[in-house]
Amino acid sequence: MTINQARRKLLIFGMGMSLVSPKIFAAQKIALLDLKSTSDSLHISLPAGDPHARVFRLDNPNRVVIDVSMTAFSSSLMHSLVVVRQKFPWIVHAKIAHFNPETARIVFQLNQPAKINHQTSNGVKWVSVSVMKGAIAAAPAVVEEETTEAPAQSARKIAARPLLVMIDPGHGGKDPGAIGGKGTYEKHVVLDIAKHLQQQLQREFKIHAVLTREDDVFIPLYHRVSLAHQHEADLFVSIHADGFTNDQVSGASVFALSEHGAGSAMARYLSQSENSVDVIYDNDVKTNDAYLKQTLFDLDQTETINRSLDFGKHMAANISTVHHMHNNHIEQAGFVVLKSPRIPSVLVETSFITNHQEEQLLQQPSFQLKMAKALAKGIHGYLMQERKENLIA
Ligand SMILES: [Zn+2]
Repeated sequence: MTINQARRKLLIFGMGMSLVSPKIFAAQKIALLDLKSTSDSLHISLPAGDPHARVFRLDNPNRVVIDVSMTAFSSSLMHSLVVVRQKFPWIVHAKIAHFNPETARIVFQLNQPAKINHQTSNGVKWVSVSVMKGAIAAAPAVVEEETTEAPAQSARKIAARPLLVMIDPGHGGKDPGAIGGKGTYEKHVVLDIAKHLQQQLQREFKIHAVLTREDDVFIPLYHRVSLAHQHEADLFVSIHADGFTNDQVSGASVFALSEHGAGSAMARYLSQSENSVDVIYDNDVKTNDAYLKQTLFDLDQTETINRSLDFGKHMAANISTVHHMHNNHIEQAGFVVLKSPRIPSVLVETSFITNHQEEQLLQQPSFQLKMAKALAKGIHGYLMQERKENLIA
């Protein structure tokens, strides 16, 4: 670790500021809102002497990527990202994640192509990211609201498009799933619940829902994830009623993907052919740079896991009104079906089929419907929250 890096670490935790030269301090903050910035041009000062600092562009969708040596994200930097996104209407998303333990990567997604200019003045490297003045090139999913407000207050509105939920009844065909003491098959009861859920979503909430399987057929796990991407689903929910060796275990649980699971998913995806990786990314990563792909995957996956956890909370809150919970928190595990890089995904264990009482419940159409209604409310609640947040983002 160099002295500069050590100083940065101190700064990040808010200590020893007076010991550090103002130049390093200014650089560390990454002056995202440099005084030279205007409504169509963002000036970024790169930290002096940082060998890892770089800014580059990616297309389809238009992105600007900023790398900078940083071991932890300061709250002022996080705040800067929020301000930048609000100030510049042409920045659709701002994300930050670790590229490697020492380097942070910030990705701005833009609604139009940008020009990047590298310059050095007084020994300080800076980069200007600019878009054509007055250019209108709204991204497909985002429309700019006509407004006379200052750019900082201008709101982005997600264009109204039909919402779609991919419902995944677990198992099927040669894979029966868990089997209850009375001979009830998980694959059958979860298909029943899934069909009720599809009806509830469409009838009560006008949310379009598609099933990964409508019959007793076997579908490989990755294929289920891929189906969700093909349909451009907004959410993915896998429905199960699994078993345990102890028949006393009971209650519902909601799972999201764990970071560890994400890591191994990444490894698996990357070990597949270049082609299949591109399919996962909706063809917007057409580079042979595996290093870059890995980073983008990490960025997407981290955000998706956070959204999945939030989605899971809505599901658990509603399930708990109709059935007792096995766990009060959202659990995290490396389920393959939860490994969509972009679609918030949860797996619901509606109850344990190996528990005698729950096996009886699972067979009852009234319980299946009650559970489906709770799941539908959870899905609707989360989607409405997302829409609301997108309006103010
Ligand atoms: Zn299962």
